Amino acid sequence: MTLLPHLIGGKADAPAGTRSADIVNPATGETVGRVPLAGRATVEEAIAAAEAAFPAWRATPPARRARVMFRFRQLLEDNADRICEAITREHGKTLEDARGELTRGIENVEYACGIADLLKGEHSKNVGPGIDSWSEFQPLGVVAGITPFNFPAMVPLWMFPVAVACGNSFILKPSERDPSASLLVAQLAQEAGLPPGVLNVVHGDKEAVDTLLTDPRVQAVSFVGSTPVAEYVYATGTAHGKRVQALGGAKNHAIVMPDADLDNAVSAIMGAAYGSCGERCMAISVVVAVGGETADRVVAKLAEQVRALTVGAGTGAGCDMGPLVTRAHFEKVKGYVDQGVAEGAELVVDGRGLVVPGHEGGFFLGGCLFDRVTPDMTVYREEIFGPVLCVVRVATMQEGMDLIDAHEYGNGTCLFTRDGEAARYFTDAIKVGMVGVNVPLPVPVSYHSFGGWKRSLFGDLAAYGPDGVRFYTRRKTITQRWPAGGVREGAQFSFPSMK
Ligand code: NAD
Repeated sequence: MTLLPHLIGGKADAPAGTRSADIVNPATGETVGRVPLAGRATVEEAIAAAEAAFPAWRATPPARRARVMFRFRQLLEDNADRICEAITREHGKTLEDARGELTRGIENVEYACGIADLLKGEHSKNVGPGIDSWSEFQPLGVVAGITPFNFPAMVPLWMFPVAVACGNSFILKPSERDPSASLLVAQLAQEAGLPPGVLNVVHGDKEAVDTLLTDPRVQAVSFVGSTPVAEYVYATGTAHGKRVQALGGAKNHAIVMPDADLDNAVSAIMGAAYGSCGERCMAISVVVAVGGETADRVVAKLAEQVRALTVGAGTGAGCDMGPLVTRAHFEKVKGYVDQGVAEGAELVVDGRGLVVPGHEGGFFLGGCLFDRVTPDMTVYREEIFGPVLCVVRVATMQEGMDLIDAHEYGNGTCLFTRDGEAARYFTDAIKVGMVGVNVPLPVPVSYHSFGGWKRSLFGDLAAYGPDGVRFYTRRKTITQRWPAGGVREGAQFSFPSMK
């Protein structure tokens, strides 16, 4: 079984004798590779390589750094099939969905191609007599990214293109569950012309993460994953003096108003709830139906479409949904369905027990639909991260908004309506970071930034886009005077002002 290499200082290296873990194809249950789990010494080697590469890369003009991004973009397009095959083999999502993920990732590379413009500073002439002042945005040094399993290509691409385009060197610690696509993408960035050490990949688990969080040479950490780990990463990294952005879990509600175009709303919700088997941080996992009649109609339409979902290996044509990522995750999601039934929710469609012929060893769960879910139930409170949709019935839009605002997560939400006034009120007042109106997955494009509120994001700056540039740079403000004819004034002991 091949052991995946780390990428350190430009060299792909598979160290013998380290801890390692199986990489499993979730559609078959078969082991398809092994991933090394770096110990402290290996991570320190990567940090040293990144630190050594930083000074020359920092001094490289942004326009040259941008040219690497242009080449990188083309290599990603040229190798799209290989990348998507690796995603589907180790994650399980359909090839078409993998292509969607990659395309959204490439958009971040396209954004980074404009880095020379994005790094332009601010200049003020004559802030005092003969005094000019300007702000510039300097790279931080060695920065790290720790990424989740559910977007093994896109989430690394949220981070390192902007970070290295800003002049930093980077260490990526991908998910150990599906690391091949992350590594492949990083290798293509190197092939595009990143000097050795500017982008490094270390595979691993908590030990690798803890080394990145505590080593004083690492200046900043971007994290995307579950909320308990995000909170830990934020607390530990900031306690060690680092800048940290840690994006966590979600429970995204869609409110369906009585005036909504129900056919369109239901098909939008189907894709957002069951696409990628519900393993998206922006997945709709709760439908809030306003009024009993709306709820009855929405549940009937959803039930029909959930029963019709085609589930199979992500490589097969025409599949809506692949398997869940691991056997452990499959058991966890199925356990939530059991618990929902035990707590009294009405299981309208039961996807448990699904067998995909020819893939009996795969981790397949059919779409599940709960009606009459109440806010005290575990299936409502916790992130399930699977193909399980809960319908909650409320009397008014305000009641639905109060539910959303009271929930611990605030990543995404959506309102389905034809009423502009209701939509305007909703988008203004709701306590959620990314809001859709008749758009079920309001994932910001690459030239905006991605970030939830409440316990969906720890830190001050969102991911990628303008916030990404700010996160990976440090403002420096310079005030300068060149007095003609030498020093003309004596010492001034009062605070300088323009009075
Ligand atoms: P996870 O938290 O288990 O793992 C994320 C990363 O943290 C991985 O690289 C993993 O190796 C590392 N890690 C895991 N346990 C750790 C520990 N105890 N100490 C240090 N590091 C640890 O998340 P996951 O299961 O890979 O991804 C799914 C989660 O990510 C979901 O909760 C989902 O909502 C969230 N997510 C959020 C966003 C967002 O933008 N907010 C995007 C994608 C995924």
